[in-house]
Amino acid sequence: MKAFNPATGEVIADVAETPDPGSAVSRARRAFPEWSRLTFAERARLVRRAREWLLANHPAVARTITVSTGKPIVESYSSEIFPVCYLIDYFTQYGAGMLAPEPIRIGLFNAAGRESVLEYRPLGVACVIAPWNYPFSIAVGDAVLGLLAGCTVVLKPSEFTPLVGEQIRQMFGHLPPGVLEVVQGDARAGQAILDSRPDKVFFTGSGPTAKRILEVCARHLIPCVLELGGKNPAIVLEDAHLDVAADGILWGAFTNSGQVCASVSRVYVQRSIAADFTERLVARARKLRQGDPMDPTTDVGAITTERQLQKIEAMVRRAVEQGAKVVCGGRRLERPGWFFEPTVLTGVRHEMEIAREEVFGPVLCIMEFDSVDEAIRLANDSEYGLVASVWTRDIARGREIAGKVYAGTVTVNECTYTHGVCETPWGGVKQSGFGRTHSKLGLREFTEPIHVHVNHRSGWRSFWWFPYGERVLNLSRSMVEAMFAASLGGKMRGAAAVLKNFSPSLVLPRKGS
Ligand code: NAD
Repeated sequence: MKAFNPATGEVIADVAETPDPGSAVSRARRAFPEWSRLTFAERARLVRRAREWLLANHPAVARTITVSTGKPIVESYSSEIFPVCYLIDYFTQYGAGMLAPEPIRIGLFNAAGRESVLEYRPLGVACVIAPWNYPFSIAVGDAVLGLLAGCTVVLKPSEFTPLVGEQIRQMFGHLPPGVLEVVQGDARAGQAILDSRPDKVFFTGSGPTAKRILEVCARHLIPCVLELGGKNPAIVLEDAHLDVAADGILWGAFTNSGQVCASVSRVYVQRSIAADFTERLVARARKLRQGDPMDPTTDVGAITTERQLQKIEAMVRRAVEQGAKVVCGGRRLERPGWFFEPTVLTGVRHEMEIAREEVFGPVLCIMEFDSVDEAIRLANDSEYGLVASVWTRDIARGREIAGKVYAGTVTVNECTYTHGVCETPWGGVKQSGFGRTHSKLGLREFTEPIHVHVNHRSGWRSFWWFPYGERVLNLSRSMVEAMFAASLGGKMRGAAAVLKNFSPSLVLPRKGS
């Protein structure tokens, strides 16, 4: 597998594909019993060693991420290495509490000496299939949650960023064999892993791939978490702080060259301020410094793959053919490597492809609205629902609007970044996927919630066991009345009937057959 540097277009490495991906699942399965038997503290200690490795090697890791993806070196730290350190810190510290058994209140049954507990048990071999846009933070984040939950993990990094995959392998090289298997390869490697029947799949990537993965999962009845794309709206109200909104949306649209599932890609701006807002945003977009991603002053780097660059170009071309106006950017850079200028489009109609389909590139559409209801309707009128943002000085109103926008995460006066806040859940609705990563919900995705129920009165029978008869019928009927009758009188009559029909013989052990 050839690894390219998107900033030059040159081959930087040739990484061998893993010859037999299925055997990685077998090794992970063999390693599972012992790994899952460790205490949380023991697993956490081993995961923290991976963070120590990262702290000792971060310059090399940051460089590898940047030369593999074309993202600015600043972002390799701010949105790859920092969030991973943060996530390891947080989950090794608090994960035990999230996985601790939870008593369930069972009312009447508690009174009858029963106890119910929910235990979060590791589900076995977790398969993590990762994309190229955040090849480090997404892959390591999911792997760490799996490992801490007690799963063994088979990780397939993207074939476009295999060098990052190799560094992840080194980072966890101290783990016992089979606990974290890194499988290098493309779709075929992914399919081979799935055909070896891991216990759950954690997929981050595109919708079409998700559907192919689901077909295999359906065949083997394997559950999955799917983190897919977005077409994320920002609603800018006329009372918004326009400079802050322009700064925030600029970053939300163009960080990582817009190759972000949570990119802001459609802005709905209130008509009264649309011209002003657009002017501020475009002025900022024109000042973005694009170029060598290793240069710390570079704001916008390269597009990770040539295929992606061609896709972006084609979508912008079609948008222009359909009437969109390019107010800035709109072209690939004439230089080696794969660069596309930060692009702002106006004159976009809501039904156009560019306003409905994920571009996964540095392209922002600005559209106008008159009433807030209209903005909410337009924001929600999408197949996707990953993230959305509302910009206003009126926080109460912002929260109210956020409550009406249907997406996995809705932010007010912020955008795009909460994947980095690992305490909070991450995931989408509609075509943006299902299931969650991060937060206690994400950690628990790597477990089976097992209900354990105990009857502390080991010498007592339950009255609803066999044999049935008049007495059991009367008792059952009077319990319905005692508990659920509409009137107090009805309840009391039911309770009296319960006492009348109850007999110790119903709960005492029966001799013989
Ligand atoms: P992709 O779907 O092309 O590939 C993702 C991964 O799936 C890669 O590792 C790839 O090798 C593997 N794969 C491809 N076909 C497969 C198959 N048939 N069986 C098993 N595995 C297979 O996605 P991509 O281009 O790497 O990533 C971009 C997409 O990911 C965008 O749509 C983006 O929005 C989405 N994404 C979503 C999130 C999120 O958290 N919701 C985060 C990042 C990226």
